[in-house]
Amino acid sequence: MPSAPKWLFDVVERLMPKLPQLQVSSTEMLSPSLKKIRLVGDVSLLDFREGYYMDFRVTDTDVRRYSPTFIDAQTGMLELLVHLHGNGPGNAFMGALKPGDTVDVAQPRGHKYYDDSVEKYVFFGDETSLAAAMSFYRSFKHNGQQFRFYFELDEENKGVPQLLGLENCVVLRKDGSCTDPKRIGSLSVFQDAGWHDAVFVLTGNVKSVQAFRKALKGVARGKVHTQGYWLEGKKGL
Ligand SMILES: Cc1cc2nc3c(=O)[nH]c(=O)nc-3n(C[C@H](O)[C@H](O)[C@H](O)COP(=O)(O)OP(=O)(O)OC[C@H]3O[C@@H](n4cnc5c(N)ncnc54)[C@H](O)[C@@H]3O)c2cc1C
Repeated sequence: MPSAPKWLFDVVERLMPKLPQLQVSSTEMLSPSLKKIRLVGDVSLLDFREGYYMDFRVTDTDVRRYSPTFIDAQTGMLELLVHLHGNGPGNAFMGALKPGDTVDVAQPRGHKYYDDSVEKYVFFGDETSLAAAMSFYRSFKHNGQQFRFYFELDEENKGVPQLLGLENCVVLRKDGSCTDPKRIGSLSVFQDAGWHDAVFVLTGNVKSVQAFRKALKGVARGKVHTQGYWLEGKKGL
């Protein structure tokens, strides 16, 4: 529920177990529109898995979802990667965060798309998916899995996957090719039958996710997980 009356969010908050507030320890602009935010505090009660998201109450009446790249109980650190765009309340809240600010957090949750017994993964997304991609990447490397990342990114962000240290990345332009199943079908994972049995995790722009899924019909032999992160004209998701 991205928006609701203040009283309703107040009631929900009161019913949820109270978690310790976190403090912003640093922020960094990785590009003009991608902000890395690190929070510190007691994160020991936060249960985190690859691709999980957290609901942030960005105004009295709005909640928006963001994915941690990691939560580390030893250092007490949680990291976010936020795509700054437009004039939404999520953008305003995340854009304004600075060191020393305190933030209320909710328990991370999500689907369990990651399985350490899977041999090959293909992850697709956009700027909003980079944090989730980072959380998968850590586990892929740790467990010696094969993986390919495909990101559709604005020109100003095309160097960010490399900056983040992500490997095996193909960066696609936001020129409409990712909303066209025929053009998606020309990507290397479609041409190489060795990748057809991979598990696919499709995230980001709902229209691109739908097109990618359509392109995979009759091709993918493994599971295809889809989770759109935003939709043109829709507030929150
Ligand atoms: C499970 C999940 C995990 C997510 N993780 C992240 C994350 O780690 N980092 C992150 O940055 N975002 C993430 N998002 C996406 C984020 O929640 C949305 O982008 C959200 O809409 C931002 O809120 P807002 O108030 O700024 O804009 P809103 O008020 O929600 O949207 C206003 C308008 O902006 C447009 N819009 C929304 N998002 C984008 C975008 N990214 N690019 C272009 N146009 C857009 C839409 O047309 C929308 O109608 C995640 C979403 C989900 C569902």
